[in-house]
Amino acid sequence: MLDNLTQRLAKVVKTIRGEARLTETNTAEMLREVRLALLEADVALPVVKSFIGKVREKAVGKEVMDSLSPGQALVGVVQQELSQIMGADLGEKASQLNFATQPPAIILMAGLQGVGKTTTVGKLARYLKQEKKKKVLTVSTDVYRPAAIKQLETVSGQSGVDFYGSDASEPIQIAKAALDHAKRHFYDVLIVDTAGRLGIDEQMMQEISGLHKTLSPIETLFVVDAMLGQDAINVAKSFNDALPLTGIVLTKLDGDSRGGAALSVRHITGKPVKFVGVSEKLDGLEEFDPVRMANRILGMGDILALVEEARKNVDIKAAQALEKKLKVGGRFDLNDFLAQIGQMKNMGGLSSMMSKMPAQFQQAAAGTNMDQAAKQVRRMEGIIHSMTPQERSKPEIIKAVRKRRIAAGAGVQVQDVNRLLSQFEQMQSMMKKMKGGGMMKMMRGLKG
Ligand code: GDP
Repeated sequence: MLDNLTQRLAKVVKTIRGEARLTETNTAEMLREVRLALLEADVALPVVKSFIGKVREKAVGKEVMDSLSPGQALVGVVQQELSQIMGADLGEKASQLNFATQPPAIILMAGLQGVGKTTTVGKLARYLKQEKKKKVLTVSTDVYRPAAIKQLETVSGQSGVDFYGSDASEPIQIAKAALDHAKRHFYDVLIVDTAGRLGIDEQMMQEISGLHKTLSPIETLFVVDAMLGQDAINVAKSFNDALPLTGIVLTKLDGDSRGGAALSVRHITGKPVKFVGVSEKLDGLEEFDPVRMANRILGMGDILALVEEARKNVDIKAAQALEKKLKVGGRFDLNDFLAQIGQMKNMGGLSSMMSKMPAQFQQAAAGTNMDQAAKQVRRMEGIIHSMTPQERSKPEIIKAVRKRRIAAGAGVQVQDVNRLLSQFEQMQSMMKKMKGGGMMKMMRGLKG
């Protein structure tokens, strides 16, 4: 895992502490670190160069406030500039879908094969139905891969929206028929999935341009895989040249990628990123947030996202009740531990959670297999479930005989029960140190 930018700069700035201004000389060395950090985050080289140039312009001559070191001041400039470029300067509207048209609003999806286009159609359909209360129809024009059409039908069903099936053999015929159907049945939105290829391909571009001309979609979204890294820039350029894109969806941000592709694609197309994909599941789509993305690229961790997700999913009442209980001297017991484990599961899965933690945390967890971690969590729950209520509230009574019974009940070894108890004790002592607050407090601690 990578150092975060603040840590990197801290190493450099030792030599220049106490300077009141960011100067040509003191910034040069720090900018080298920024440049490396961006390259490590997979931002394409020309984009890095142009970005560094802008930061230099903004930074040099800037006063360093008393409370900051020159390094921190520079991180501030970098973070602000990156947020701006990621779209903060476009305003909130930029990342929203445009519906200002005679219904149905047509959304045309473009992108290479395997990037997550069909999955994204399913996610988008779900989002539009649930969050925006739209009546949504989907259609696939991928006449080359029947399996892709079937896949869209399946995800549409899972998202609870209608799917338009057609026997026609030409993408344009299918699209026209779907549009006609959408009009006659008063759909608000028609999402059109298209055929992708493994690489840029002339025929694919012509086909999707033809679809664009026929449909005149109000949104043409370019779907790109964050894992593409440096290559994203070339793919984005080709699609942007062939089609008047209106926005970008960056998928698979739950993987290892720092998301540098977001900056490259944003830079090369000039179009706003509108959504990010954060899991394979249909609820794994988030509205894009430029500031958070900037922090992620810089390796500062997506703490805001984590907190927001925690707010959404964690049973706040339960957290508050725990906080209260601990405040008045109550003991953190195995029931509370079980609830905490449950909350971790709710928070969008362990791997999605880890990807949002700051680099230091990710480093600690590097090498942990997330599937195994999830299995581990289930096993921990199984063990606690095999305990009696009395054992859960008074863990100290769990001695050898009880351990054997619990292990047998959960189908694990006694050493697994021991491990769980020691993990519990660690958590308990952590809770004691924080004097209550549980998960919510931990989050706040991380943020500060
Ligand atoms: P298409 O060929 O572009 O239509 O791609 P698919 O929608 O079939 O997706 C290809 C693979 O990527 C599938 O295994 C999806 O489950 C997976 N996928 C799509 N979006 C995401 C995402 O945001 N995160 C993760 N982890 N996987 C994704």
